[in-house]
Amino acid sequence: MSAVIVCAGLALVSAEERSDFCFAIRGERIAAIAPFEELRERFPDAAVREHGPGVALIPGFINGHSHAYQILLRGIGDDLPFARWRDEALYNIVPGLSPEDVQRTFATAFREMLAGGITTVAEFFYLNGGGNAHAEAVIQAARETGIRLVLARCWMDAPAAPAAFRESIDTAATRTLELMSGFPDANICVAPHSVHGASPEMIRAAGEFARQANCPLQIHVGEAAYEVEQTVARYGMTPLRLLETLGVVDERLVAVHAIYVDADEKKLLANARASVIHNPVTNQYLGDGICDVAGLLDLGVPVGLGTDANVNASILDEMRSAAFLQKLARNDAGAFCATGAFRLGTSMGAEALGIDAGDFRAGAFADYAVVDLERLTSPATPLVNALVYRAQAGAIRETFVGGALKAASGSSS
Ligand SMILES: [Zn+2]
Repeated sequence: MSAVIVCAGLALVSAEERSDFCFAIRGERIAAIAPFEELRERFPDAAVREHGPGVALIPGFINGHSHAYQILLRGIGDDLPFARWRDEALYNIVPGLSPEDVQRTFATAFREMLAGGITTVAEFFYLNGGGNAHAEAVIQAARETGIRLVLARCWMDAPAAPAAFRESIDTAATRTLELMSGFPDANICVAPHSVHGASPEMIRAAGEFARQANCPLQIHVGEAAYEVEQTVARYGMTPLRLLETLGVVDERLVAVHAIYVDADEKKLLANARASVIHNPVTNQYLGDGICDVAGLLDLGVPVGLGTDANVNASILDEMRSAAFLQKLARNDAGAFCATGAFRLGTSMGAEALGIDAGDFRAGAFADYAVVDLERLTSPATPLVNALVYRAQAGAIRETFVGGALKAASGSSS
């Protein structure tokens, strides 16, 4: 397998600036990071990819939670209260999509993500009631565009959900296993929708499935005040405590949102070594609330970022919002910094999802983006501040996944 040596004048490595940065790629992964001469010696037959002056290399962004088909709700669902947004926009459009619609829509969303430097997306996918054809269309869209996919295969059985989303526990388990064996490149994990979208029996069964399949378990939890009120009224406990009784609060748990969790529940997440995905733009758009990211990080909980409703499928926007919301929630501009926000969107997001990416590291996937420094607002230093507080997706010139070019400004593939 021939190698490629990649060089650039500037890079962000572990969120710190490095000049004259070089690494070697073999297959899809970073084989070594070293000065050019050393790499030349170790990989004498390697091609050289020189990323010229005026650019910086950054790790590809990790989108930890997305529903790509919600790009179809843009303009339709805007400014509606949550229940109307769900019933009049989401439930009105998504259940009627054909597999072809799904593939086309997801490919469009994935291209938008790649153009903005996103190299991995975790799709929380719930259009499974009719079988796996829709989920397979998502996988095809990821293959077609080249984005790295984590398919969080949703399980739903709540009577209130559209029939197109609902399955029995056995059907959901059988179909999820079929996807896992048929599509190992799709990083499939199990995702009971939420404590209101899936029955306690289904959530418990999903936990058992995750242990047997050795995969993560993703679930929406603590997203909105109404969910806490309903769950306490129905089960006499909060959503996260209910999950604990169902045996799914452990190191496999990826808790999406975790806004409405109290101090003891944050410790519960930390002690269980669970992860959290924070979706600050969607949380603002839907008026949900503010996740205590700073508090979770203090306890050692890995937190990643997601574009969720895809108001704008940009992790740059999510990093900016994450930092601003922490400052606002604590009335303290020092409560969160640009470097912390950048880590959420890169290395920590990868850790939360269990994907070997999110930083330049020997052995990790060679997933990275090329930033055009001239397209950053002056001053472009420190680079991490310029990216988190001021950069637009147009500053990303090229995006590479597994060492291969998947998006370049001016093109769509
Ligand atoms: Zn979601």
